[in-house]
Amino acid sequence: GPNWEDDLAGGNTARADVNLQKIGQNIALDFHDIFMKYLPRLCNHCLNPACVAACPSGAIYKRDEDGVVLISQDVCRGWRHCVPACPYKKIYYNWQTNKAEKCVFCYPRLENGLPQICADTCVGRMRYVGVLLYDMDKVEAVASTENPQEIYDNMLDVLLDPHDPAVAKAAKEQGIPDNWIKAAKESPVFRLIKEWQIALPLHAEYRTVPMVWYVPPMSPILHKDAASVHFPEAEAMRIPVAYLAQIFSAGNEDVIRRVLNTLLDLRRYMQQRTRGEATTEFDTKYGEHTLYDMYRLLGIAKYRDRYRIPAGVNATQEEKRLHQGVGGFSDCAFGGCSGSAPSASGCNGCAGGGHE
Ligand code: SF4
Ligand code: SF4
Repeated sequence: GPNWEDDLAGGNTARADVNLQKIGQNIALDFHDIFMKYLPRLCNHCLNPACVAACPSGAIYKRDEDGVVLISQDVCRGWRHCVPACPYKKIYYNWQTNKAEKCVFCYPRLENGLPQICADTCVGRMRYVGVLLYDMDKVEAVASTENPQEIYDNMLDVLLDPHDPAVAKAAKEQGIPDNWIKAAKESPVFRLIKEWQIALPLHAEYRTVPMVWYVPPMSPILHKDAASVHFPEAEAMRIPVAYLAQIFSAGNEDVIRRVLNTLLDLRRYMQQRTRGEATTEFDTKYGEHTLYDMYRLLGIAKYRDRYRIPAGVNATQEEKRLHQGVGGFSDCAFGGCSGSAPSASGCNGCAGGGHE
């Protein structure tokens, strides 16, 4: 399967990786020295989707209501221009139906206020889904930014702060429902992307203004001995800063350093806090309160904190309640209760929340 190639043959195929070639740097490729990092990729539901622009049939469109990019299977004529047009290689041609297909951001679930199935079932609980309000009028200028290293900053400018009363008012005037504005204010992705700026867009230099963002991976932190953990400088980590910069910041290493230093601060702070030690100076601008908030969202967030998805018009309380009781991914195995303990036979019939 594909993972065999990634995991065990990577030492050979990595030499052809354009991201490595660009930095002209030798990194550990010998079998004994390598470690695995995975980068799950799905369609980015871009604000400037190249696939939409490339389709001669007009079969690909970005939905007004939630920004999901879809391919109409009725309108697609199998031209396949979208396949090479997407720089993320996220469109696949179905040779049985002769239509193009891609991630649909699980829109039927989305319409019912439910997280995407890849997010819901992720055993690492590493996906976060939420609403972002943005200024569509600025997108063309962002995509046309001359210096690729400025695209990330410009993308942040496109994203609007829903806590700003003027933004909330304008959103309401433009017909965005109250529950969407509320969800935007509580959005976990807004915190990761804009407030704390620790999530970055993948290959922003492709200029499609992607809307799936990534917290860059930390290299393995090695234990010096049983009593202490050695936190390396960002610069000394096994994944070179220059390499991460090729992937997440169009080569701007300062952005990667800032994010890694924040994540290091977070770990250092939590180690000191857990041991009851006095906290030391932090490298980054965030204080104890923010670092603890980051820890809660990144480390121990509950289901309702990772996903803030406003229900669409079709969702009923019953559908939401039924979903929250399924599969053990919600906070309570029985879907939550309103204060009294759930019975051994299952949910006692509340709408979720409260008791865990
Ligand atoms: S990632 Fe590719 S397929 Fe998805 S919206 Fe962007 S350009 Fe289109
Ligand atoms: S599970 Fe849904 S959101 Fe996730 S990649 Fe598949 S279609 Fe896209």
